[in-house]
Amino acid sequence: MKKNKTQTPHLSQDNLNNEMMSFIANSPTPFHAVLNLQEILKVYQFSELKESEKWDLKQNGRYFVTKNDSSLAAFVVGNRPAQKSSFKIIGAHTDSPNLKVKPKPDKIFKNFHQLGVEVYGGVLLSTWFDRDLSLAGRVHFENKKGALQSALVDFKSAVAIIPSLAIHLNRTVNENQSINPQKELPPILLQIQDKNNDFRNILASKLSKDGYPVSKILDFELSFYDKNPPAFVGLHDDFIASARLDNLLSCFVAIKGLIASLDNKTAATKVMICQDHEEVGSCSHIGAEGPFLPSILERICFDRESFHQSIKNSIMISSDNAHGVHPNYAEKYDENHGPILNAGPVIKINANQRYATNSETASLFAKLCEDLKVPYQRFVVRADMGCGSTIGPLTSANVGLKVVDVGVPTFAMHSIRELCGGKDSVFLAEVFKSFYSREDL
Ligand SMILES: [Zn+2]
Repeated sequence: MKKNKTQTPHLSQDNLNNEMMSFIANSPTPFHAVLNLQEILKVYQFSELKESEKWDLKQNGRYFVTKNDSSLAAFVVGNRPAQKSSFKIIGAHTDSPNLKVKPKPDKIFKNFHQLGVEVYGGVLLSTWFDRDLSLAGRVHFENKKGALQSALVDFKSAVAIIPSLAIHLNRTVNENQSINPQKELPPILLQIQDKNNDFRNILASKLSKDGYPVSKILDFELSFYDKNPPAFVGLHDDFIASARLDNLLSCFVAIKGLIASLDNKTAATKVMICQDHEEVGSCSHIGAEGPFLPSILERICFDRESFHQSIKNSIMISSDNAHGVHPNYAEKYDENHGPILNAGPVIKINANQRYATNSETASLFAKLCEDLKVPYQRFVVRADMGCGSTIGPLTSANVGLKVVDVGVPTFAMHSIRELCGGKDSVFLAEVFKSFYSREDL
């Protein structure tokens, strides 16, 4: 722990958190998150580049590029000639653990229409029961002219629920609960009136209602989510309860940091990258183990030689949430390395390289915080426990970048409703702004 725990952030806490909560509420899937990030970038005159076209980049130009509609990179080209350039990168991920609808999801029993689901990532399954669930994602269809088309869809209302089994029928549930996802998680969509109305028909009529010329649904990637919007909780609104704080909080704070730094034109090129598939290991064409980031950095440099020189001088902050010390489970944390909510961002360290932080990159982050008088903390997992990971080590190994892994402390990571402190997002935004703005670090 550093500094005064009751310190107040300098940026407007209410504004940032209210905007963040609305961003998260409107981003039930990575597709929606990327769309909403684009909307913010366009307001600040970032222009879209296509991976498939030649890039003609200008000094201080603002650009963004997307991949698969679910990963996004934004950058502001630096002042310096490309071969002497360096990159200041902040990375986060757009995906969160959830229940995904199977391709042939229909399950009918006693006139209940349920949907089969796959578990995406490390879902805390027990938290998904008795929630008002909605459904969102991306759909591909054949349109009325016979061409392929895609659309984002969001049912928005509570279209499904996974009811618990009553305690009277399972007396030992509070002693030992295990959940079989295949058997126990299919949400109930409706009670059937029309037996021919399968899920693809339901989806087609939803898209038609949204104004799309659907002839036939071909495929979809749809996820259930909790309709309950983010909220301040605690007697003094100390906390924010929300789905997907891991890791849409970092995506939003990164874009705020980038935008807040736009008046400071720097020699280094500022890059923000938000990638899909972190929760399932990042090994995909859009994930952190794929070519998305290195190909962008290389194209900014024009040639391979200046790319290699630039990478040597570059640094990345990998931002993903950390585990705050839970008062009911204090024994799960190392006594000297358990972060407290609302006491500042956390530098994450692991000797086995589950985090990419080293003493050089940790010092840089610490210096950024110290100079801003922003408190910061350090997390190391107990020596007798395994450690989670982030996009940090993968990006570091894949691109050859120096990386520091950081994040805000949270409770209930991978629950359908996670919890963070209202101050930490703002502290992190201040540090990100400074990281992008300073020339001397
Ligand atoms: Zn995460």
